[in-house]
This record gives sequence, C-alpha cells and structure tokens, in this order.
Amino acid sequence: MKVSSRMCILLTSLMMLGFSGTEAGGQDVQKRVEEAGGIIPLTGNRRERQQWQEIVDLIRLEDEEGRPVHPTLKRLWEWLEGSGHTIYIDMRKRRGAINVAGSFALRKFDPKGGRHVGVIRLNLSNIDQAIVADRNRLRNGLIPFEGLGRVERYAEVLGHEMSHAVHILSDHALGRSVIDLVDRTNEMLLDRNRKRGLESIGTDFRARLSERDELLRRLESRAGDVEKIVWSELHQAHARRER
Ligand SMILES: [Zn+2]
Repeated sequence: MKVSSRMCILLTSLMMLGFSGTEAGGQDVQKRVEEAGGIIPLTGNRRERQQWQEIVDLIRLEDEEGRPVHPTLKRLWEWLEGSGHTIYIDMRKRRGAINVAGSFALRKFDPKGGRHVGVIRLNLSNIDQAIVADRNRLRNGLIPFEGLGRVERYAEVLGHEMSHAVHILSDHALGRSVIDLVDRTNEMLLDRNRKRGLESIGTDFRARLSERDELLRRLESRAGDVEKIVWSELHQAHARRER
C-alpha cells in the first residue's frame, strides 16, 4: 500500500467533526471547547482512546534527568496547547479514507488571528499498513517510519501535521493564503468538475493552480524537514531502548 504523507493540506469544507448540531447542545459544547482552545482528541471507541493515550505518553516521555526524550514533538505540542487556537486531532476510523497517513486543515479562520480552528486527521490503519521502502524516500532523504515501532509511526505523522499547524497558525498572512489559494481553489475545482469538466480551465485558472501548487510545495517541504527531525529523535530513543 502506497501511503503518502505529502500534499496533506485538505479542503476545509470536507472536514466533518464529532459535534453534531442535531444533538441537544452539540454546538454549545463545541463553542465552549473552542473558546478554551488547545489540543482536543476526537476518538470513536476505547481502542482509539488507548491509542491516543499511547501517543500522548510518548510525547511526554522524559529521560532520567527530566529532559524530554522527543524535544521537537514536545515543543510543537506545547506551542499548540498554549496558542489560544483549537486543534482537533481526529483519529476516528473512517470508511473510504483516502490513502494518506494524516492531514491538516484550517477549519475556521479567525480574521482577528487569535482563535483559529484546525483539524489534524490521523489515519492509524493507513499508518499501520504503510510500507517502509526506499521508493518512498522524501526529497530530504527521509524514509518515513524507517526503524520505528507502531506508536512511534503515529507520532512521526502527528509531528508532520503539528508542524503544518504551527507554521500556518503562527503566520496570519500564510493562514489567509491557505484559505484563499488552497481551499478556495479546491472548491472552484470541485465546482468546475461538477459543471463543465476540467478541459474548460482558462489561463487565469491555470495560473491560480500553479500558485496553489507552489504554496503546497513550500508547506510540504517545511513539514517534511520537521518530520525528519522528529523521526531522528524517535529513532535515536528507539535504538537506545533496544540496546
Ligand atoms: Zn504535509
């Protein structure tokens, strides 16, 4: 199974969350959660709650001197926890999930900049089945998941997606570009697909598409570099435990 963690910025309007508006008070709960901000896991059953706890324990792991064993993961985590923004981490199993390990989407963009809402999706079964192979090597040399255990693989993907979140949420102009260029372009594509077919794309729209792709390349390159650091911290700790 080819699983790519690249090009993982998704269309906002396709994201569905766990707070149903039809349930009594569902929207109130969501509003209160988002006023408080921080990292909020969305899990569907006991197994997924256990898996979430395993990931959290790994991120909080300290050595004998009380230093974080995975400092980059810890920094990303703490930034998001204290940012005032809300980050849902959706681990619920979904039928027909696309072949990616994870994704990040800006779900609500706050024009004032203080309270954005983002969603990280982790597709745990895709991560479990991902093949570690030289053909999946990233441009920066990283072979995703090489030498890592099950929970460490989840943490590597979470590190990549948290890096997107921190990058986009800490830069207001970038956040606006993601909404305008990525989400808006994707919506236009879907719309054109439905109505006329893609052959009707004109020069202006082609220019917009290449601008979007350039932005995505920039975002993915940065997240890939952070993922490489996260991987190396996970790999070193893993190797120390094996000795
Ligand atoms: Zn990515």
